[in-house]
Amino acid sequence: MPEYVKRIIRTLEDRGYEAYIVGGCVRDGMLGRQPEDWDVCTSATPEEIKESFSDVKTVDTGIRHGTVTVVIDHEPVEVTTFRTDGKYSDGRHPDKVQFTKDLTGDLARRDFTMNAMAYGPEGVIDPFGGLADLTNGVIRCVGDPVKRFQEDALRILRAVRFASVLGFEIEKSTEAAISRFAGIVRYVSTERINTEFSKLILGKNAGKILTRYREEIMEATGPELPLPTMLGKIDLLPAELPVRLVLLYPANLKDCLKGLKYDNATIKKAAAIDALAGEPLPFDEVSMKKLLRKDGPEAVRGSLEICRTFDVDTSDAKAMLADILDSGQCYSLDQLAVTGADLNMAPGPEVGQVLNGLLDAVIEGRVENDKEKLLKEVR
Ligand code: ATP
Ligand code: MG
Repeated sequence: MPEYVKRIIRTLEDRGYEAYIVGGCVRDGMLGRQPEDWDVCTSATPEEIKESFSDVKTVDTGIRHGTVTVVIDHEPVEVTTFRTDGKYSDGRHPDKVQFTKDLTGDLARRDFTMNAMAYGPEGVIDPFGGLADLTNGVIRCVGDPVKRFQEDALRILRAVRFASVLGFEIEKSTEAAISRFAGIVRYVSTERINTEFSKLILGKNAGKILTRYREEIMEATGPELPLPTMLGKIDLLPAELPVRLVLLYPANLKDCLKGLKYDNATIKKAAAIDALAGEPLPFDEVSMKKLLRKDGPEAVRGSLEICRTFDVDTSDAKAMLADILDSGQCYSLDQLAVTGADLNMAPGPEVGQVLNGLLDAVIEGRVENDKEKLLKEVR
């Protein structure tokens, strides 16, 4: 546990409150994985949390839901009062939360047994058999899956996401409820769906899980997914969002990604990869450099990866790409050995035209990328 988390626990305990790390960080710690974030739960009320940390920065992240973010050494930690959640009648937010003095009540509101463990001075607190499920690689709802999914349908997608990321199996009654209720995930906000879906498709078992739960995932997220033979190939791709999204949505890529509320940068990268993947492979260094100049190395590399999933032999193109990048050969204006300032020209569009002309000459091998030689070429 990092020092800043220990300090938060110690501070709360010194004031007579209970305090534990809880949820994902306990799970990841036991799996030997680096937790993404550290969450603390405590018997202190939000006001008491703020009082306890009056000497450091705190943010009222969700006072109504009992969460105060405590910032120590620039590291934010969410500190949340023990609570039980009411019903989620809109499938999105608990209608009301109730603070409780009882850790077990707080653990009971959590989604899966492996996420319902806390760790404190007495060691691991595990009222729902999370440790056994973690050891056996099982994802199981805390309590009745039907009820838990009706309270918050996002849990359906979270189950599938964890199966993909951790390589776990979903327990039978949890799985049956997933199949039955996948359709209600649609009522959850697209932003929450996007977060889980993105983690799902980057998981080490993405191919297997997308194939196995294809119907359910389509019901939950909306757009059609390719057939299983194609889906399985996602594991051949690097764990990067844009390239994996290109494989998943071969038709109407942009519309699908907009519908799923991906950010513009991701959509742009995916669209560039998609467009390039539809063109013939570059067959020599000049055409490769022209592609690099137009779309950048990330898109070119991504498009080669996509071509490979269609069983195209990309080995020559890949070797050529690696060679150009590793040896630092010039394909872009910022690698050119002269800049606009070297040209002694009045500022204006002509400067760009001259520089681009020089870059053409360098890429086509007519001039070396050397300042003197380039300036001579201009004269
Ligand atoms: P990650 O590694 O992606 O952060 P996580 O399990 O930590 O996974 P968080 O969203 O950080 O996910 O949530 C922290 C904890 O809060 C979970 O481990 C779980 O105990 C609880 N939790 C999160 N989302 C839900 C939910 N929709 N329903 C019930 N409990 C939830
Ligand atoms: Mg987390």
